[in-house]
Amino acid sequence: MKYMSITKRWFLTVASLVFAVLVAVAFLVYSLVMNYYYGAARMTVEAMNAGEINSIFSLYGASNSGFEDAARNYAENFQNKDKLAVWVINSKGKVIVSSNGFSISDDVSMPDYSDALSSPDGTARWTGELPSGEKIMAYTCTYHYNSGDFGGALRYMVSMDAIDAQMRIVAVIIASVFIIIFSFLIVSGTLFLRSITNPVRNIGEAAKKIAAGDFEANIDHYPYNDEIGELCTTINEMADKLGETERLKNDFISTVSHELRTPLTAIRGWGETLQQIGDSDPAMTKRGMDIIISEATRLNDMVEELLDFSRMSSGRMKLNREKIDFLAELDEVVFSFKERSIREGIEINYNVPTFPAPGTGDPARIKQVFINVLDNAMKYTEQGGKIGVSAEMPSPSELIVTVTDTGCGIAPEDLPHIKEKFYKANNTVRGSGIGLAVCDEIMNLHEGRLDIDSVYGSGTTVRLTFPLETAAKEKENE
Ligand code: ADP
Repeated sequence: MKYMSITKRWFLTVASLVFAVLVAVAFLVYSLVMNYYYGAARMTVEAMNAGEINSIFSLYGASNSGFEDAARNYAENFQNKDKLAVWVINSKGKVIVSSNGFSISDDVSMPDYSDALSSPDGTARWTGELPSGEKIMAYTCTYHYNSGDFGGALRYMVSMDAIDAQMRIVAVIIASVFIIIFSFLIVSGTLFLRSITNPVRNIGEAAKKIAAGDFEANIDHYPYNDEIGELCTTINEMADKLGETERLKNDFISTVSHELRTPLTAIRGWGETLQQIGDSDPAMTKRGMDIIISEATRLNDMVEELLDFSRMSSGRMKLNREKIDFLAELDEVVFSFKERSIREGIEINYNVPTFPAPGTGDPARIKQVFINVLDNAMKYTEQGGKIGVSAEMPSPSELIVTVTDTGCGIAPEDLPHIKEKFYKANNTVRGSGIGLAVCDEIMNLHEGRLDIDSVYGSGTTVRLTFPLETAAKEKENE
């Protein structure tokens, strides 16, 4: 679609519509005022009605004696004399008296007189210009003698020049009001639009920079608290968040590379050593092989963790659900940590009642969560520390497994973030920062919860909540 600025679109739509409405209103007002003035002029010229005129001139007849005097007398004294001129026209169409005293030539054009002769009520009106250029409104009203013969007509005339001058003033006033309103609209509209388009342009420029990877790009201060202000704040927050994620991602890549390199170096080193010593030292060979196997297992676990994370990020993490006993899985995991705990000098107090905790879940994934949580507890606890593993059922449909440790704890400012991907609160201990994010996702997929509490410097408590299969639920599912 072709680019068109908001301002231009506003001009083409709102401004042109307002312009059209204003023009229509201006014309309407102008014609109403003109109708009013012309109506007033018409009422003035038509004030004398035919009946009244007939009663004045009907006395005279064919002899016409005294008629001219009567006509003159009428023309000198008729009402509205200050506003109107009157001509008395005889039966032959000749103007015999005019109220302003001028004699009128026979060939003067009187369209209203001609029309009145043929009109049923004997009257007609005409508006037009005199040869002198003066604009008038004329009204002719015919009269008859008592005998019934056509007597002639009276022609009343009012000058329209004053009215037209008045109308010109009205037109100027209307045009001025129109220009003032329209200019106000254009100025206020342009200023208002600019207050939108300028920040939107800034937002666009900042968004382009952010898209190009410049997460430092920030939108300048926007002075109003409105939708655009909210958008600016959101985009600034988005840039900060993207910058933070970028930083975490870079840290993650370097941590993971480092983590991968450590076991690889050990494997290679031991491989070379074994190559050199050959079969000469079976004890050394066994030790080397053990280390190679355990480092290869560590590498494998890390790659698995990375693959899980990638599955989680793309929403491809699937569960192989089956009926399981959560505590049986926990039992196995805690048992597998026994040897390590002795080796590292950390005491595990495993205190789990032997009640059944049936539910539906993926046993491998559930174990993965327990392993991760216990691994963290071991990693972040010094030699001589203690780890407690306990379980309780606050209701028949809920199991809570709690793992506590007396380790380094988590700082309050890190606590809300540690479930986020790549987030590491402690860089002195190996780890990629994705373990808890994966665990949290697994717990969510099982409709469970992973909650962490910690007191910095004295220990951490991880609470895993699982929904259990109750007898009623089991029945429902069948
Ligand atoms: P990592 O592989 O780095 O341990 P996790 O996602 O498992 O990543 O944990 C994220 C961060 O949470 C860790 O870097 C660590 O700082 C903190 N953390 C997790 N468990 C504990 C714990 N039991 N005690 C102290 N800190 C912990």
